[in-house]
Amino acid sequence: MSFAEVMGAYADLDMAKAIHGFQRQDVMRALDKDRLGPDDLLALLSPAAGTMLEELARKATAVTLRHFGRAVQLFTPLYVSDFCTNSCVYCGFNAEQKNKRRQLSLDEVRVEAERIAATGLRQVLVLTGDAQAKAPPEYLEQVLAVLREFFPSLLLEVYALTQEEYARMITAGAEGLTIYQETYDPEQYARMHPSGPKQDYVFRLDTPERACRAGMRWVGIGALYGLGDWRMDAFWAALHARWLQDRYPGAEIGLSLPRMRPHAAGWQPEHPVSDRDLTQILLAQRLFLPRAAITLSTREAPGLRENLLPLGVTRLSAGVSTSVGGHGADQAGTPQFEVADDRSVGEITAMLRSKGYQPVFKDWQQLNPVTP
Ligand code: SF4
Repeated sequence: MSFAEVMGAYADLDMAKAIHGFQRQDVMRALDKDRLGPDDLLALLSPAAGTMLEELARKATAVTLRHFGRAVQLFTPLYVSDFCTNSCVYCGFNAEQKNKRRQLSLDEVRVEAERIAATGLRQVLVLTGDAQAKAPPEYLEQVLAVLREFFPSLLLEVYALTQEEYARMITAGAEGLTIYQETYDPEQYARMHPSGPKQDYVFRLDTPERACRAGMRWVGIGALYGLGDWRMDAFWAALHARWLQDRYPGAEIGLSLPRMRPHAAGWQPEHPVSDRDLTQILLAQRLFLPRAAITLSTREAPGLRENLLPLGVTRLSAGVSTSVGGHGADQAGTPQFEVADDRSVGEITAMLRSKGYQPVFKDWQQLNPVTP
């Protein structure tokens, strides 16, 4: 059974309506459990739970300490190409934008890698737009070959690949990937993706599973909050993560909480997500998935990132640029979106230590790393 079929099993339920029917006692019942079911997750995402965030926060803090201690993994994105054939209405790289496009040469990748490595970071997330003719899997393999000279941990956030292509990326040195469904609402998904290969909702929904089947060690998923009803997107993203955890115990499944930020294409979210809403998403997902790594990116402001840390966040990006060439190669391109936290790796590290957290630069390395 695919995750699309899992979603199909709920098709007769008006979940968006049902979630408004939960009461305080339903939330309390969910908080009393160690392993929560889908109904409990809905209760924690309900308006009723929105009035009980302090109670949710107490338990989420304890759960996070029990499973992760005070360790926080640091990483940074490295944009290598902003060519894109999709028209995602919420993205500054979309094909309708007339920005000058850039793709790093392998020499430029090396320059960026040297700059990032000098900050002490050991985990890098490699990003591209979706233009396979410009940045095919062969290019990604070459980029990974350069980067693995510098970094023991390489993740991909690129267009959706086939299982065979993911296997190639693993051979080339990729440890994992991040891929967001953006919104789990198929109708809203169609409106947000009017043209390009990303229009295929089901192919994208099946992508994390293809990566797990290929043997990726780390698979991060999530929704882009602000595109659809945040309660439902948070529900489906968490259920998707649980489904992957249960089905692929050899893979570490993580969640991210990206929220819409200003960007060159200018589109405004139809479903704005407040700081309080984002906090509720984090708390509900942490309690439903006690072992899942949860990432909070520089889309969020420094104060909010620091306040949410104890409630379940285990990964932070640092020293971030969302432009191709943004780490130091000349002529950085157009940013994909504006970051809200532009602190350096040193500043984020100092902040974590001052709050009693341990910044983690590397938590895993292949026993038999591939050789060029
Ligand atoms: S979100 Fe990704 S696929 Fe969509 S326009 Fe932006 S870079 Fe392209």
